[in-house]
Amino acid sequence: MAGIVRLIEKKREGAELTRAEIERAVRGYNHGSVPDYQMAALLMAVCWRGLSRSETVHLTRALVESGERWELPPELHPALDKHSTGGVGDKATLMLAPMVAAAGGRMLKMSGRGLAHTGGTIDKLESIPGFRAALTRDEALAQLRRVGCVVMSQSEGLVSAEKKLYALRDATGTVPQRGLIVSSILSKKIAAGATHIVIDVKHGGGAFFATEQEARAFAAELIAVAAEFGPQVAAPLSAMDEPLGRAVGNALEVQEVWELLRARDTDSEVTALCARLGGKLLALAGLAQSEDAGAERLREVVRSGAAEAKFGEFIAAQGGDLGAFAEEMERLGERTQRVVVKAQADGTVSRVDALAVGKLCHRLGAGRTRKEDEVNPWVGVVLWVKRGDAVRRGDALAEAYAPAEWDEAQLEWAASEMLGAVAL
Ligand code: URA
Repeated sequence: MAGIVRLIEKKREGAELTRAEIERAVRGYNHGSVPDYQMAALLMAVCWRGLSRSETVHLTRALVESGERWELPPELHPALDKHSTGGVGDKATLMLAPMVAAAGGRMLKMSGRGLAHTGGTIDKLESIPGFRAALTRDEALAQLRRVGCVVMSQSEGLVSAEKKLYALRDATGTVPQRGLIVSSILSKKIAAGATHIVIDVKHGGGAFFATEQEARAFAAELIAVAAEFGPQVAAPLSAMDEPLGRAVGNALEVQEVWELLRARDTDSEVTALCARLGGKLLALAGLAQSEDAGAERLREVVRSGAAEAKFGEFIAAQGGDLGAFAEEMERLGERTQRVVVKAQADGTVSRVDALAVGKLCHRLGAGRTRKEDEVNPWVGVVLWVKRGDAVRRGDALAEAYAPAEWDEAQLEWAASEMLGAVAL
């Protein structure tokens, strides 16, 4: 079998890697005999040359086998899970997990940290004082039984190679490749024992897939690869041209979800997406007669306040203190500098550029540039307007929460980026 340099060359020349070769690269990287720089070169070759269906299946299997595998006991079935291919302001997991649990389902979700310009659910949840994302298997299963939902970081023991690869891809510009994303998502779900999964496939300027056509091809690949392993998967598409909801940034997004649940708001864009995704999931798992019936049940738990109560229960079960979080948010002004941009003319908002907002938030410190970077939980952007809104000259369009240490020139840059992102 070829050595790792030969594998890199083989992929660079566009040849198909065998199952044994893929397993060897993954195992070597996981155990440290393949260093970051060689794996980064291989990933870049994959980005240029692509992965065939068989290569994607082999990679998925190699990632699953790089760690332990959780089989959930039958009384915890159906084991529901949800994933998003990543977007800007995508806070759906924070709301959907407690909604599904309040509706009688069980969701054990392992989430990631921020990747490229998109945020990560774990970074968001860790802005809540005390929140503990690293749970053991026993803790996670006990919480799943008691509360009905768990959102945790990838357990050390599971898909350990995927965890390393994910961080390396983020730091080497090798995130947006179809087979890499399919294997990254599915390996985590399969290893964690999910039986029914809904995957929100985003397309548009702020997503990894620019066009609906690419997203459709991705969804088909995901379903075909999943079929080799067992779990049932639904992969609906959703647009990501403008950020989801109003807030982008770790703590700001948690606050938005909490406010929507407290307001029992069933009409917001975030709630509507969660009801649609959750409706599909409940129907797929046989917990609702149809997607529409499932979605209505989920709206009902928001309306009744059951989802808000479940949100509080789930955060508390993982050590999070929402009272302390609220106090921290009241002190946002001490930790950040607020920059507001206003409409310079009367008009209608024609575009809120998700990618530009995502990149701005990344620069503000909400995401990572190097895999060892810490995120700043407090920074981000809040949109006062969305596409189609009418505005008058002088109306606020958006506000940024910038790091307290930024100077005047940096704040002006942030303002001009926001003005560029919101077009009339
Ligand atoms: N989400 C993942 O889990 N993995 C990717 O590669 C991209 C989005």
